[in-house]
Amino acid sequence: MQQKINMLGFKISHLKKVFVENGFSELDAKKVFPWIHKKLAKNFDEMSDVSLATREKLKEKFSLSRGKCVTLLSSKDGTKKALLEFSDGNRIETVFIPDEKRNTICVSSQVGCAMGCKFCHTGTQGFVRNLTSSEIMAQVIFWKDQFPISNIVFMGMGEPLLNSENLFESLSILLDKKTHNFSRNKITVSTCGIIEDQLHELAKFGVKLAVSLHAPNDEIRSSLMPINRKYNIEKILEATKKYRDESNTEKITFEYLLLNNVNDSAENAKQLIKILRNFPAKVNLIVYNDWPDSIFKGTRREDANSFSMNLIKHGLRAVIRKSRGDDIFAACGQLKSAEKNQQKRD
Ligand code: SF4
Repeated sequence: MQQKINMLGFKISHLKKVFVENGFSELDAKKVFPWIHKKLAKNFDEMSDVSLATREKLKEKFSLSRGKCVTLLSSKDGTKKALLEFSDGNRIETVFIPDEKRNTICVSSQVGCAMGCKFCHTGTQGFVRNLTSSEIMAQVIFWKDQFPISNIVFMGMGEPLLNSENLFESLSILLDKKTHNFSRNKITVSTCGIIEDQLHELAKFGVKLAVSLHAPNDEIRSSLMPINRKYNIEKILEATKKYRDESNTEKITFEYLLLNNVNDSAENAKQLIKILRNFPAKVNLIVYNDWPDSIFKGTRREDANSFSMNLIKHGLRAVIRKSRGDDIFAACGQLKSAEKNQQKRD
């Protein structure tokens, strides 16, 4: 049997094209699009302004599959983590993080990841495949069906800029004024430093950028993140400045995991101040959450505070980000689709 085409991941211009190629009209696409992305229809029968005959024909060729939620874990801090399984059996994790002022979701872009960052649970799994734009949108729709969502961060499994085509298609849908209508300031794409054409293309969407820096010099960064041998800190800072100008975004965020005795000394703070001094950026300090078999430990709270104070004293904007959902392994760097990971911590 011919596989049905999943419609969730087509921006409106693309949907019109696919409809025409399959014997439907552009007008049909215009009617169906808001049903998918505004009313979050689960099936074609809900699309009451589309004729019955067209709905029946749509069912034959297309699907609105959101994947299957295999497990849904809730943290005591309100964070939730879902394991979604797609039609080929591959699984990814996506996280919901409620806060006083906002509800943020963390979205995955790949099954596994090829980047092999030493501190990252996803990195240990290796790369399996890119997610389609429908699978990326399935995560957003999964959460939007349950909660009002104000912010989206592409910080889940995978390196989003290595799946740029599907990332960009999803961003077009999310920024569509007639449906999801997210502001570009409410979407953040995180990269470990893939700075070629993809970053230039991303700038056209004007979304916020978070760069995973995690080290104050190339020696430490290369030992933690193999990608640094290709795109070192100097290259990243240069590309990031260019992104800021091209995208007209406010400050760029640098993510910095605090790893005990690896990158958290007073000397390391001094080095970080030196490289970021003239850079209008915010530094998000994240105390590392270890996972089973992890070779790293998180910096102690008082050391994290003094690292942060050191940066602030020298004019950098730095915050220690609250860790969320670590009792369900939903915190940064802890996502992994292996089943053994789908238990709660004692
Ligand atoms: S930190 Fe990000 S880029 Fe690095 S291995 Fe993990 S998912 Fe991949």
